[in-house]
Formats: sequence, C-alpha cells, structure tokens
Amino acid sequence: MRVDALPLASEFVEHFAAEGIEELYPPQAAAVEAGVCEGGNVVAAVPTASGKTFVAELALLTADGPGLYVCPLRALAREKFEEFDRLPGVDAGISTGDFDSAAADLAGKDIVVATSEKVDSAIRNGAEWVDDLACVVVDEVHLLGAAGRGPTLEVTLATLRRRAPDVQIVALSATVDNPEDIAEWLDAELVESTWRPVDLRVGVHADGSVRFDDGTDAAVPVDTADPATNPDTEVTAELVRGAVADGGQALAFVRSRREAEALAERLTDERLPSVVDAAGASDSGDGADGPDAADATHERGEDAGMDAAAVAEEIREAGGTETGDRLAEAAAWGVAFHHAGLSSDHRALVERAFRERRLSVICATPTLAAGVNVPARRVVVRDQQRYAGSGYEWLPVLEVHQMCGRAGRPHLDPYGEAVLVAGDEAGRTELWDRYVTADAEAVESKLRDPAALRTHTLALVATGFAASQADVLDAFAGTFYASRTPNPDLGGDVGDAIASLIDDDLLAATGDGGIEATALGEQVSRQYVTPDTGVELLAALRTVATMAPEHVTELTAFEVICDTPDMVDTYLGNAERAEIYQFARSHAAELTTGMTEADDFEGWLESVKTARILTEWVDGASVEELVESYRIGPGDLESRIERAEWLLGAADALAEVLGVEMPALASARAKL
Ligand code: ADP
Repeated sequence: MRVDALPLASEFVEHFAAEGIEELYPPQAAAVEAGVCEGGNVVAAVPTASGKTFVAELALLTADGPGLYVCPLRALAREKFEEFDRLPGVDAGISTGDFDSAAADLAGKDIVVATSEKVDSAIRNGAEWVDDLACVVVDEVHLLGAAGRGPTLEVTLATLRRRAPDVQIVALSATVDNPEDIAEWLDAELVESTWRPVDLRVGVHADGSVRFDDGTDAAVPVDTADPATNPDTEVTAELVRGAVADGGQALAFVRSRREAEALAERLTDERLPSVVDAAGASDSGDGADGPDAADATHERGEDAGMDAAAVAEEIREAGGTETGDRLAEAAAWGVAFHHAGLSSDHRALVERAFRERRLSVICATPTLAAGVNVPARRVVVRDQQRYAGSGYEWLPVLEVHQMCGRAGRPHLDPYGEAVLVAGDEAGRTELWDRYVTADAEAVESKLRDPAALRTHTLALVATGFAASQADVLDAFAGTFYASRTPNPDLGGDVGDAIASLIDDDLLAATGDGGIEATALGEQVSRQYVTPDTGVELLAALRTVATMAPEHVTELTAFEVICDTPDMVDTYLGNAERAEIYQFARSHAAELTTGMTEADDFEGWLESVKTARILTEWVDGASVEELVESYRIGPGDLESRIERAEWLLGAADALAEVLGVEMPALASARAKL
C-alpha cells in the first residue's frame, strides 16, 4: 500500500516522502485496513520502530476536527510535538507544565500533545476544548497496568469518551499478552503484529557462547577467571566491543545507577574504536587495507576523535558537576551512562549524540528502555534483576522485551541483536524460559487500588461529573477495569472511598443521599494533588496557624510539602542520619511535626532532608554543592525542585481556603 493512495492531501504525501515514507509498513497497512483513516477506533499492538507514529499521524490528519496525542513522558511529548509541528499547515500545541490550569490556550490547535496527567488536570480545571476533539491517540497504552498513572489514563479516557461520544480512539501498545482486552474496552479493531523493519534475534550468553532464538550459536569467549573482575561485566564488555568493532552501536542495561557508571568507566578502558571510525573502515569495503582506504579511515578516525571530544565539550557546557565531568570524560571515549540521577539536559544530550552516532555505547538503567528513541545494533542486558526494597526481583518480561526491542536501526543495521548475560548453563535455561520464549505480561487494571479510587472519586465529584455514589459508579463503568471484570461491583469500594473522603472533609453529604465537594476538596482536585497529600498539607497548615509567625520560615514551607506522598523520597544513608537528626532538633521550632510526633519517623527524617536541600537551594547553594553534600544526582535535585514548585502552589491555594497566613509558601516558590 502506498502513501499516495491514502486519503491525504498532497502536501502531506510530499512531506512523508521527504522523510522516506512512501510505502506503508505491513502493520501500518493493517491499521489503514482497520479503518484508522476513516474515524475507526484502532488498537495497534506492534513492536518498537514499526512505525507507530505514522499510524498516529494518519488518524490525526484524516480526523474531522482537532486531535489529542497522549503520551506518558514529557521528553517523549516534546519529541512528538516537534514532529507534528513540522507537518505542513498543522498548528500543534504542547501541554506538560502547570497542573492547575485548564490550558485554555490549546483550544483552536489542530493537534495537542500532552501527558495523561496533564489532560486529567485540564479536565479538572474546566477545559472545554476536550469536548471538541475528533481524535485521541494514546501512546504506550499498556501503561494502563501501571500503578498510579494507569488508573489516571483509564479514567481520563472514559471521561473523554463520555464527553465526546463520537471521538475516534487510536491506542498504540507494546506487544503485550492481552491487546484484545484493550481493543474490546475501546470498541476498537485490533492490529497485532510482530513485524519489524529490521530483523531481531535474541540470545543468552553463557560459557563462552551466545545461543540465539533463530537456532544459531556464536562463540564469544571471555576470560572470566580473574577473581578481581565481575564475570558478567567482562562478558558485557566483550559483547559491546564486538558490536562496536563491527561498526555498530551498543546499549548495555544494568540494574543501578552506580553499576551504569561503573560499567561506563570499565568500557572507557577498552579504548573502543569510535562509531564513525569503524563505519569509515567498513564503508571502504574489501579494499580496506589499500592505501586510499587507509587514508580515508585515518581521516575519519580523526573526525571521530573530534566528534567525541565535541560531545564531551557539550556535556561540560551543559553543567559542571562532578557527575557531568565523569560523563564528559567517558564521552570523550565514545561511552556514556544514562540514569535518572543525570540532569535532564545531560540525558537529552546523551540520547541525541547516540542517535547521531557520535557515541558508541550507552550504559543505562532499565528506565531508558521505556523512554525515548535510542536504537542500537546490539543490546546487552547484563542484569535481569533489580533491587526492590527488601531484595532483588526479576524485571517484568515486558520491560526486558522493550530493552531487546531497541536493537536494530532501520537503514543502518543489517539486523538487531539482543543478548542477555547469564552466569552459567543453568542461568541460560532460566533466562531462556523467563524472557526469550515467554510472552509479555497481560495488562491488568489498577483502578481498584483504594488510593486510586479516592483520587478519581474526588475528581469526578469536584468537577461536577458526579453528585452521588451512583454517578461515580456510572463514570467508572466506562473504564478498562469495568470492561475487564465480569461483575465489576465497585459499589463497596467506592462507598469506602466516599466515606473516607467525607471523613477527611474533602467531600460532604448533601442530605438527599447526594455528595458534593467541599471548598477544600475542590481545591485539592484542582491543584492535582492526591487526596492523601491534600490531607497532609491541610493538617500541617493547621499546625502552622498555631505557630509563632517568626518561626514560620521557608524551611517550614518545605517541610510542609516534603512530608507528603506526592513528593519523591530522598534516600537517607546511615552516615547522614545523625546529622539530619541534629538538624531537625536545632530547627524544631520551625517544623510542623515534633520530634516525637511522627508516625513514620524515618520517612519524616527523609522529608526533613529534602526540605533542607531545597532550603539551601533557595538560599543560593549550587547544584554542585548540593550534589556533593547530599549524595544525590543533579536529576534528583531537578525533580524535587519541580515537585516543590507544584506542591508549594497547592499548599498556598489550600492555605487561602483555610484562611491560614503563610507568606513563606509564596516566597519560597518565587525563589525556586
Ligand atoms: P515506533 O513504532 O517505535 O513509534 P516510529 O514511528 O518512530 O516507531 O518509526 C521508526 C522509524 O521508521 C522512523 O524513523 C520513521 O520515519 C520510519 N518509518 C515509519 N514508517 C515508515 C515507512 N512506511 N517507510 C519507511 N520508513 C518508515
């Protein structure tokens, strides 16, 4: 099927042709046959890189009105926004920022890109543009199964469909075990395919060889006898070295930030040939050892060195922290690490440089697998387990499949290869059964979680969509949960949620069996904090009202917002514990929780640590100083500052409803 045979204006056909899209990939053709250009609901469960974005564009461009593209990550939202904004004559908008607005400026856009949380919050704040939508595309719809954001996605989609009953829904999913359940929920045609533009083979390394799922074996002997080295790391280094020597790029996944950095350091010792260098050598073909070819290779080699040096320089320019310096040092050898502790600028830089083939290897934590587009020739999954509170647990099959799916760059690689590293033959069998031949998990709703029910019940009532328990149940009838559960008797659970919200003074009974949101409940919903956070904020603000005004400082403001479930926890090491304890004691008069009052003392001490970091930040400490003193990454500081800005705004709005004077909230926020 050809693009010029589709119901698209010629300028779009030309635009796609310029991007190399003229003939549809098989899953794209299947989506067209399923009605994606005719307003039909379609669920496409297809592998990474099989051209889902084009399917989205087809739906959005052929829809009879404005479209919304919902995606989980902000970095991804930006990527897609830029792509849609390049479409000729299309006015695209993006909304990922403030949570307490209706994003009214998005009315009138042809295509809006937003995270599901942002769409949810815009609805809570009265956005009317959602009623006019002709098409909604949901990317990564398998995240329905994620705690927290999954329920938000399903309730938001149910609400959108209630408000705009004719809206076309196109949902894009990774290959999961039950895409038919998602299709059934959305009354959609299912397009399911394992087709990929580049062949992928997946294998497991043990005892000096990789056994692949296409029946082949490859000898990759590694000397793992040296007790001073980690055998899995040595195997990983060898697999990476082989891919790069062959002109490819590699992604190596390990379990933690520290491991990612350590592996990057180990790989710089390899003195890998740079990607450009190796590509030069293989471009020159069989005559590679002739004098001309050698010259060409030599020149490219120099370019490669310069390129790596340029990446290192860009990294240094993007922020001088100790982590940044280490990243730059590794990048000079074509190697990078990538994890949530890196600043977002550094993360974006690493991703881009890798896509531009200016880096040979990224050593990453599993988060990269679900993130932006960074395909590689070879993917090595060194660790298949991750530390989870009390011990190691296996990564979900879906996550490992997504890592493996990163292998193979269209037009650049003849094939993609993913290798899981096992310690021995028994490990090989285990990994083979667990990941190579196994299907990804089924997607299951998490809506029944009491915290999720409280959040969405309050939102439905506060926005006026529900004025009774029956109305709430009616709204939930359109969710994935209800469609998946034969007798989705949520009555008892929703009743419990309503009773607890009334106890918390966020909802009130109206006497005639109805319910309404209190002024506090309405504000909690608008500010987009969870009811649990709302309750914590209100309790702390009531304490503030009893404190002497001179004791209510910016530290108080930060403690108020940090001791809530919506702030991210900050790890408190044993060595720091005593110091933070001393800090809390010496500032006891400024804190809303007394030293003996905290229900969860450890958790509270952690929030005091976060509050202290944020106080030093607004007092002018540099990223570098804070990273150094508190052993957090620049990315950790960024995420806490961002949340603090949101939560201080929420606390300020709630203080106003309560009639509590707390100028420190606004002053701290202004300085962030
Ligand atoms: P994903 O399915 O992971 O979202 P993308 O939509 O990003 O994949 O597509 C991956 C790459 O394939 C992009 O570079 C895109 O331009 C290219 N592509 C998509 N469809 C086609 C096509 N029909 N012909 C050629 N290239 C295509």
